[in-house]
Amino acid sequence: MTASPDTPLTIARGDGIGPEIMDAALRVLDAAGARLAIEEIQIGQAVYHRGHSAGIEPDAWESLRRTRLFLKAPITTPQGGGFKSLNVTVRKSLGLFANVRPCVAYSPFLPTKHPTMDVVIVRENEEDLYAGIEHRQTDEVVQCLKLVSRPGSERIVRYAFEYARRHGRSKVTCMSKDNIMKLTDGLFHAVFDEVAAEYPEIEAEHSIVDIGAARLADTPEIFDVVVMPNLYGDILSDVAAQVAGSVGLAGSSNIGRDCAMFEAIHGSAPTIAGQDVANPSGLILASAMMLVHAGQGDVAERLHNAWLRTVEDGVATADMGSPASPVGTQAFADAVAARLGEEPTRLPVVRYPQVEEAIRVEPSVRVRATKTMDGVDVFVDHPDRDPDALAAALAAADDGPLSLALITNRGVKVWPDGLPETFCTDHFRCRFLAADPGTATQAQVVALLHRLEQAGVDVVKTEGLYRFDGELGYSLGQGQ
Ligand code: NAD
Repeated sequence: MTASPDTPLTIARGDGIGPEIMDAALRVLDAAGARLAIEEIQIGQAVYHRGHSAGIEPDAWESLRRTRLFLKAPITTPQGGGFKSLNVTVRKSLGLFANVRPCVAYSPFLPTKHPTMDVVIVRENEEDLYAGIEHRQTDEVVQCLKLVSRPGSERIVRYAFEYARRHGRSKVTCMSKDNIMKLTDGLFHAVFDEVAAEYPEIEAEHSIVDIGAARLADTPEIFDVVVMPNLYGDILSDVAAQVAGSVGLAGSSNIGRDCAMFEAIHGSAPTIAGQDVANPSGLILASAMMLVHAGQGDVAERLHNAWLRTVEDGVATADMGSPASPVGTQAFADAVAARLGEEPTRLPVVRYPQVEEAIRVEPSVRVRATKTMDGVDVFVDHPDRDPDALAAALAAADDGPLSLALITNRGVKVWPDGLPETFCTDHFRCRFLAADPGTATQAQVVALLHRLEQAGVDVVKTEGLYRFDGELGYSLGQGQ
């Protein structure tokens, strides 16, 4: 029998506890007989400080695009302007749209209030507020764009259902805040309902994210697979990992059509770096997920079962429920390596297929809707914060086909008939509408902006008020 070729893999040791836990994971991978051709790249703080604002150098991209498989230790993201999050950049640049984070309790061996918890968080990885499009528009107001797309939502929701089907899971829960964000989270929820109908054997439910989060923290055993937009998924997967036992335990996969990245869900934990106390389990379990993806299910199984046996034998780092005699990072890895070939006797044994076919999801092809325009929202910087004075200034420009209908401040109607109690900032949204829906034109908007400029109004941005096949594509101002 000829040995299968080694799988090309890019690794990065990252920052903080990254190098220690990567050393530990690599030792276990090597001892388990993983067939890997490893290339190492540098990412993180040192690269940021060499002047690369994304924390990664051009050569590193070549390695990632060649191997298409990345095992990554956490990095420290510098605070403040000028630096981009490397994690977000890598996920988006390589199209890693699905972030899968299994959060499992290992009771009675690791203390948890939720002994039967076994939740998989499927987090959308490319969109939402993580588009990173932020602007300061006035002296007082900054904004962050929340972008949610139909194909992006469809891919992640379909991935969650395909994952549930593949892994014999019975329920997929969607969490969103569509009672408030009716268009963005509303689209995510609507797509969830559409896709769920194609999987009748899997129970589908939706929960508003606030009560969903409370239940996930309080009674996580009622959940199975949970699919969420990016921000909620980021926050709640940490919650889920922590209530399962420790944030140091969970591994995650970031899956795209062509590439995949595997990492622990925790960060670089700089305060415990260099002390040999960090738990390497998150990266070790991420390595098992990576091996399954790479078609080395046999090695993944050996590694994962040895890790379970280690936990059963009471070997634990300090974060794993305050053990009486915690072991260090490298000793934990040695304990896992020493148990390769053994299986847990009380925790469920894991079984992986030798080669697991990748979950492939594509958004469906749709006919584009017919787009018409009702008018425009003009956002203005108005330092004296007086809505009536602003309305008077706008009236000077309001002699065209688009008429002032409404002024809001942070979404609250302040003209006409605003309440004196409403606090105003210097950032106003002024809605101009055509007399009949769907009849506004870009030329009218340009003419309006020209008149506003001549009237001394400081326009900071505009948003078209569109309909798609006659359906409203914008939120109504409060009070309308
Ligand atoms: P963190 O996850 O690094 O630490 C949170 C807490 O958990 C700390 O008390 C830490 O000591 C503990 N902890 C984390 N991992 C542990 C482990 N393996 N073993 C034992 N204890 C562990 O989160 P943070 O402090 O908010 O972030 C620190 C840095 O990590 C920040 O710069 C952040 O941007 C970055 N970060 C990176 C990633 C990534 O690279 N994927 C993810 C999250 C945060």
